[in-house]
Amino acid sequence: MISLKHVSKWYDRFQVLSDCTTEVKKGEVVVVCGPSGSGKSTLIKTVNGLEPIQEGTILVDGIAVNDPKTNLAQLRARVGMVFQHFELFPHLSIIENLTLAQVKVLNRSKSEAEKKGLALLERVGLSSHAHKFPSQLSGGQQQRVAIARALCMDPIAMLFDEPTSALDPEMINEVLDVMVELAYEGMTMMVVTHEMGFAKKVAHRILFMDEGKIVEDTKKDDFFNNPQSDRAKDFLAKIL
Ligand code: ADP
Ligand code: MG
Repeated sequence: MISLKHVSKWYDRFQVLSDCTTEVKKGEVVVVCGPSGSGKSTLIKTVNGLEPIQEGTILVDGIAVNDPKTNLAQLRARVGMVFQHFELFPHLSIIENLTLAQVKVLNRSKSEAEKKGLALLERVGLSSHAHKFPSQLSGGQQQRVAIARALCMDPIAMLFDEPTSALDPEMINEVLDVMVELAYEGMTMMVVTHEMGFAKKVAHRILFMDEGKIVEDTKKDDFFNNPQSDRAKDFLAKIL
Protein backbone atom coordinates (compact mmCIF):
# COMPACT_ATOMS: atom_id res chain seq x y z
CA MET A 1 0.00 0.00 0.00
CA ILE A 2 2.82 2.39 0.92
CA SER A 3 6.33 1.93 -0.41
CA LEU A 4 9.39 4.10 0.13
CA LYS A 5 12.55 3.35 -1.81
CA HIS A 6 15.86 5.08 -1.12
CA VAL A 7 14.15 8.25 0.05
CA SER A 8 16.43 11.15 0.92
CA LYS A 9 15.43 14.67 1.79
CA TRP A 10 17.28 17.85 2.64
CA TYR A 11 16.14 21.05 4.31
CA ASP A 12 18.59 23.35 2.56
CA ARG A 13 21.92 21.70 3.27
CA PHE A 14 20.71 19.70 6.25
CA GLN A 15 19.95 16.09 5.33
CA VAL A 16 16.85 15.13 7.30
CA LEU A 17 16.18 11.74 5.65
CA SER A 18 18.92 9.40 4.43
CA ASP A 19 18.17 6.53 2.12
CA CYS A 20 14.94 5.42 3.81
CA THR A 21 13.43 2.25 2.41
CA THR A 22 10.40 0.48 3.83
CA GLU A 23 6.91 -0.62 2.99
CA VAL A 24 3.54 -0.89 4.65
CA LYS A 25 1.28 -3.61 3.36
CA LYS A 26 -2.49 -3.40 3.20
CA GLY A 27 -3.89 -3.87 6.71
CA GLU A 28 -0.52 -3.49 8.34
CA VAL A 29 0.12 -1.24 11.34
CA VAL A 30 3.62 0.19 11.45
CA VAL A 31 4.75 2.22 14.44
CA VAL A 32 7.52 4.74 13.86
CA CYS A 33 9.58 5.69 16.88
CA GLY A 34 12.92 7.23 17.68
CA PRO A 35 14.42 10.24 19.42
CA SER A 36 13.16 13.76 18.91
CA GLY A 37 14.59 15.28 15.74
CA SER A 38 15.27 11.91 14.09
CA GLY A 39 13.00 12.69 11.14
CA LYS A 40 9.80 10.82 12.07
CA SER A 41 7.42 13.68 11.27
CA THR A 42 9.24 14.48 8.08
CA LEU A 43 9.12 10.85 6.97
CA ILE A 44 5.41 10.56 7.55
CA LYS A 45 4.70 13.85 5.79
CA THR A 46 6.53 12.70 2.68
CA VAL A 47 4.02 9.86 2.33
CA ASN A 48 1.16 12.14 1.36
CA GLY A 49 3.33 14.71 -0.32
CA LEU A 50 3.21 17.33 2.44
CA GLU A 51 7.01 17.38 2.25
CA PRO A 52 8.74 16.91 -1.10
CA ILE A 53 11.75 14.60 -1.40
CA GLN A 54 14.89 15.07 -3.44
CA GLU A 55 15.84 11.43 -3.99
CA GLY A 56 14.03 8.11 -4.13
CA THR A 57 10.47 7.10 -4.84
CA ILE A 58 7.30 6.87 -2.78
CA LEU A 59 4.29 4.93 -3.98
CA VAL A 60 0.89 5.01 -2.28
CA ASP A 61 -1.53 2.48 -3.70
CA GLY A 62 0.58 2.51 -6.85
CA ILE A 63 0.50 6.30 -7.18
CA ALA A 64 3.92 7.97 -7.38
CA VAL A 65 3.69 10.75 -4.79
CA ASN A 66 6.61 12.67 -6.23
CA ASP A 67 5.64 12.48 -9.85
CA PRO A 68 4.80 16.08 -10.83
CA LYS A 69 1.85 14.67 -12.78
CA THR A 70 0.27 13.23 -9.64
CA ASN A 71 -2.71 15.13 -8.30
CA LEU A 72 -1.66 15.59 -4.68
CA ALA A 73 -5.01 16.96 -3.58
CA GLN A 74 -6.68 13.75 -4.73
CA LEU A 75 -4.05 11.61 -3.11
CA ARG A 76 -4.34 13.48 0.20
CA ALA A 77 -8.08 13.03 0.15
CA ARG A 78 -7.47 9.28 0.22
CA VAL A 79 -4.76 9.21 2.88
CA GLY A 80 -5.99 10.35 6.29
CA MET A 81 -3.60 12.31 8.43
CA VAL A 82 -3.95 13.10 12.13
CA PHE A 83 -1.43 15.40 13.77
CA GLN A 84 -0.43 16.18 17.31
CA HIS A 85 -2.58 19.30 17.30
CA PHE A 86 -6.13 18.63 16.34
CA GLU A 87 -6.43 21.26 13.65
CA LEU A 88 -10.18 21.30 13.56
CA PHE A 89 -11.66 24.42 11.99
CA PRO A 90 -12.50 26.49 15.09
CA HIS A 91 -15.28 28.50 13.46
CA LEU A 92 -17.15 25.40 12.24
CA SER A 93 -19.31 23.07 14.31
CA ILE A 94 -18.20 19.48 14.74
CA ILE A 95 -20.58 18.21 12.08
CA GLU A 96 -19.47 20.99 9.71
CA ASN A 97 -15.87 19.97 10.32
CA LEU A 98 -16.82 16.43 9.35
CA THR A 99 -18.74 17.31 6.20
CA LEU A 100 -16.71 20.12 4.60
CA ALA A 101 -14.14 18.02 2.73
CA GLN A 102 -16.65 15.33 1.86
CA VAL A 103 -18.72 17.93 0.01
CA LYS A 104 -15.84 19.96 -1.45
CA VAL A 105 -13.42 17.20 -2.39
CA LEU A 106 -15.59 14.09 -2.82
CA ASN A 107 -18.63 15.98 -4.16
CA ARG A 108 -20.97 14.24 -1.75
CA SER A 109 -24.34 15.86 -1.13
CA LYS A 110 -24.72 17.68 2.18
CA SER A 111 -27.15 15.08 3.52
CA GLU A 112 -24.99 12.16 2.47
CA ALA A 113 -21.97 13.82 4.09
CA GLU A 114 -23.90 14.48 7.29
CA LYS A 115 -25.08 10.90 7.47
CA LYS A 116 -21.52 9.68 7.14
CA GLY A 117 -20.26 12.28 9.63
CA LEU A 118 -22.84 11.33 12.23
CA ALA A 119 -22.10 7.63 11.81
CA LEU A 120 -18.40 8.25 12.40
CA LEU A 121 -19.07 10.57 15.33
CA GLU A 122 -21.05 7.75 16.87
CA ARG A 123 -18.19 5.39 16.25
CA VAL A 124 -15.80 7.60 18.23
CA GLY A 125 -18.42 7.98 20.96
CA LEU A 126 -19.32 11.63 20.34
CA SER A 127 -22.77 11.58 18.71
CA SER A 128 -24.18 14.05 21.18
CA HIS A 129 -21.58 16.70 20.29
CA ALA A 130 -22.38 17.20 16.60
CA HIS A 131 -23.55 20.79 16.98
CA LYS A 132 -20.92 22.00 19.39
CA PHE A 133 -17.80 23.90 18.40
CA PRO A 134 -14.30 22.48 18.82
CA SER A 135 -13.50 24.82 21.74
CA GLN A 136 -16.36 23.26 23.70
CA LEU A 137 -14.71 19.82 23.56
CA SER A 138 -11.79 18.45 25.54
CA GLY A 139 -8.49 17.75 23.80
CA GLY A 140 -9.18 14.03 23.71
CA GLN A 141 -12.62 14.61 22.23
CA GLN A 142 -11.21 16.97 19.61
CA GLN A 143 -8.63 14.42 18.60
CA ARG A 144 -11.34 11.77 18.24
CA VAL A 145 -13.24 14.21 16.00
CA ALA A 146 -10.05 14.68 13.96
CA ILE A 147 -9.85 10.91 13.48
CA ALA A 148 -13.54 10.73 12.54
CA ARG A 149 -13.02 13.57 10.08
CA ALA A 150 -10.22 11.67 8.38
CA LEU A 151 -12.32 8.51 8.27
CA CYS A 152 -15.19 10.38 6.59
CA MET A 153 -13.05 10.42 3.45
CA ASP A 154 -12.91 6.59 3.27
CA PRO A 155 -9.11 6.64 3.43
CA ILE A 156 -7.03 3.80 2.03
CA ALA A 157 -4.51 4.39 4.81
CA MET A 158 -4.15 6.54 7.91
CA LEU A 159 -1.06 8.45 9.02
CA PHE A 160 -0.73 9.58 12.63
CA ASP A 161 1.95 11.91 13.94
CA GLU A 162 2.11 11.74 17.75
CA PRO A 163 -1.68 11.99 18.06
CA THR A 164 -1.64 11.79 21.85
CA SER A 165 1.43 13.78 22.82
CA ALA A 166 -0.39 17.07 23.29
CA LEU A 167 -3.08 15.49 25.46
CA ASP A 168 -3.48 15.41 29.21
CA PRO A 169 -2.67 11.90 30.47
CA GLU A 170 -6.25 11.03 31.32
CA MET A 171 -7.32 11.62 27.72
CA ILE A 172 -4.65 9.55 26.02
CA ASN A 173 -6.45 6.25 26.31
CA GLU A 174 -9.71 7.40 24.80
CA VAL A 175 -7.80 8.33 21.65
CA LEU A 176 -5.63 5.22 21.65
CA ASP A 177 -8.76 3.07 22.06
CA VAL A 178 -10.17 4.48 18.82
CA MET A 179 -6.86 3.80 17.08
CA VAL A 180 -6.67 0.25 18.43
CA GLU A 181 -10.15 -0.43 17.13
CA LEU A 182 -9.18 0.92 13.71
CA ALA A 183 -6.12 -1.30 13.68
CA TYR A 184 -8.18 -4.37 14.58
CA GLU A 185 -10.56 -3.53 11.75
CA GLY A 186 -7.68 -3.83 9.33
CA MET A 187 -6.90 -0.20 8.54
CA THR A 188 -3.46 0.33 7.03
CA MET A 189 -1.71 2.64 9.48
CA MET A 190 1.59 4.40 9.94
CA VAL A 191 1.78 5.80 13.46
CA VAL A 192 4.49 7.97 14.95
CA THR A 193 4.12 7.52 18.69
CA HIS A 194 5.98 7.02 21.93
CA GLU A 195 3.09 4.98 23.31
CA MET A 196 4.83 1.65 23.44
CA GLY A 197 1.76 0.02 25.01
CA PHE A 198 -0.12 0.84 21.82
CA ALA A 199 2.78 -0.47 19.73
CA LYS A 200 2.89 -3.72 21.69
CA LYS A 201 -0.83 -4.20 21.32
CA VAL A 202 -1.42 -3.54 17.63
CA ALA A 203 1.78 -2.89 15.66
CA HIS A 204 2.92 -5.47 13.17
CA ARG A 205 6.24 -3.77 12.62
CA ILE A 206 8.32 -1.09 14.26
CA LEU A 207 10.52 1.40 12.44
CA PHE A 208 13.14 2.91 14.66
CA MET A 209 14.66 6.12 13.30
CA ASP A 210 17.80 7.91 14.28
CA GLU A 211 19.42 10.89 12.55
CA GLY A 212 17.26 10.56 9.46
CA LYS A 213 17.88 6.88 8.96
CA ILE A 214 15.63 3.90 9.49
CA VAL A 215 17.94 2.05 11.84
CA GLU A 216 15.59 -0.84 12.56
CA ASP A 217 12.63 -2.15 10.61
CA THR A 218 11.53 -5.29 12.37
CA LYS A 219 8.60 -7.30 13.58
CA LYS A 220 7.24 -5.92 16.81
CA ASP A 221 8.37 -8.79 19.03
CA ASP A 222 11.91 -8.69 17.67
CA PHE A 223 12.09 -4.97 18.34
CA PHE A 224 11.00 -5.22 21.96
CA ASN A 225 12.75 -8.48 22.83
CA ASN A 226 15.90 -8.20 20.82
CA PRO A 227 16.68 -4.72 19.47
CA GLN A 228 19.76 -4.80 17.28
CA SER A 229 21.22 -1.30 17.46
CA ASP A 230 22.63 0.34 20.55
CA ARG A 231 20.50 3.39 19.76
CA ALA A 232 17.31 1.35 19.91
CA LYS A 233 18.45 -0.35 23.12
CA ASP A 234 19.10 3.06 24.71
CA PHE A 235 15.77 4.36 23.46
CA LEU A 236 13.84 1.41 24.87
CA ALA A 237 15.69 1.59 28.16
CA LYS A 238 14.59 5.21 28.55
CA ILE A 239 11.03 4.80 27.43
CA LEU A 240 9.95 1.49 28.99
P1 ADP B 1 10.95 14.19 14.68
O1 ADP B 1 9.53 14.18 14.24
O2 ADP B 1 11.56 12.82 14.72
O3 ADP B 1 11.15 14.90 15.96
P2 ADP B 1 11.35 16.02 12.46
O4 ADP B 1 11.03 15.28 11.21
O5 ADP B 1 10.32 16.93 12.98
O6 ADP B 1 11.80 14.96 13.58
O7 ADP B 1 12.68 16.85 12.28
C1 ADP B 1 13.91 16.25 11.89
C2 ADP B 1 14.96 17.32 11.80
O8 ADP B 1 14.65 18.22 10.74
C3 ADP B 1 15.11 18.17 13.05
O9 ADP B 1 16.47 18.44 13.22
C4 ADP B 1 14.36 19.43 12.71
O10 ADP B 1 14.90 20.53 13.39
C5 ADP B 1 14.58 19.54 11.21
N1 ADP B 1 13.43 20.19 10.54
C6 ADP B 1 12.15 19.81 10.62
N2 ADP B 1 11.35 20.60 9.86
C7 ADP B 1 12.18 21.50 9.28
C8 ADP B 1 11.98 22.58 8.36
N3 ADP B 1 10.77 22.88 7.89
N4 ADP B 1 13.08 23.29 7.99
C9 ADP B 1 14.30 22.99 8.45
N5 ADP B 1 14.57 21.98 9.30
C10 ADP B 1 13.52 21.24 9.71
MG1 MG C 1 7.80 14.85 15.15
